[in-house]
Amino acid sequence: MTSPALPPVVHTIADLRATVAAWKREGLRVGLVPTMGALHHGHLSLVDAIAKHTDRVIVSIFVNPTQFGPNEDFDRYPRTEDADREKLATTPASLVYCPSVAEMYPEGATTRVQVAGVTDGFEGAIRPGHFDGVATIVTKLLLQALPDVAIFGEKDFQQLAVIRRFVADLDIPVDILGGTLIREEDGLAASSRNAYLSESERAVAGQFNLILKALVADAKPGADLRALEKAAVSKLLAVGFQSVDYVSIVDAASLTPLETLTPGHAPARVLAVARLGAVRLLDNMAIG
Ligand code: AMP
Repeated sequence: MTSPALPPVVHTIADLRATVAAWKREGLRVGLVPTMGALHHGHLSLVDAIAKHTDRVIVSIFVNPTQFGPNEDFDRYPRTEDADREKLATTPASLVYCPSVAEMYPEGATTRVQVAGVTDGFEGAIRPGHFDGVATIVTKLLLQALPDVAIFGEKDFQQLAVIRRFVADLDIPVDILGGTLIREEDGLAASSRNAYLSESERAVAGQFNLILKALVADAKPGADLRALEKAAVSKLLAVGFQSVDYVSIVDAASLTPLETLTPGHAPARVLAVARLGAVRLLDNMAIG
């Protein structure tokens, strides 16, 4: 059996634009899936999901330096371009876009996109500057590719809210889709950073989603939400997580923490981050 053909790769904005312009001349609808590579089935699910809405799918792979803090894992972030391309060969991806850092941030570039409000808490508070980097790179990717649709995973729930905010605020003509959070067999949210976990840490990591599921089951109208959050934090520490950055029940649109749930409440979500060794694990679930 022959393996499926690898999708073509472009490395420059000019080549990307030429390809997209040719598609647009044919009247084709174009989708974009921004990633930092080290692709797993969570990323591939986004390719499948957006292909249902578009005729051509671009997957960008760029480990974006401006969204990493000075003491974060930019240098050791896994870079697996060849393996990524092979994985994409099994998907409807039409083109892979792998720009260099110099292509994205040429000397002299100083502009940043900064989003207020929805970036205040959670990842925005713990990783200063992170969402400026995300908003800047996603704006650039959207303006480079000019897709009709772009998709981002609900795995990074706050990031999706930030992207929806600046796309609306800057009148960027693109539809933003949210992709379902994809999990491993034991329920751990799939993540490129799971590769950093040792075997014993990986076993502990599998408890994270179970503890959040229990919280979701108890988060009924009238329940004491702060008590549920505290109980989840205690359980996470008890099963072996080193620390918990937050477990918070929030309004799913504004991400403001909720005091109570009322019958027929607006969509709510629990957002959580817990640390295991050097890894911060993110998870979130719908409530109700
Ligand atoms: P990353 O490469 O980590 O920047 O992720 C690229 C895109 O894939 C982002 O929109 C993420 O939210 C999304 N993504 C990452 N992990 C998952 C997952 N487990 N399920 C769904 N989407 C994901």
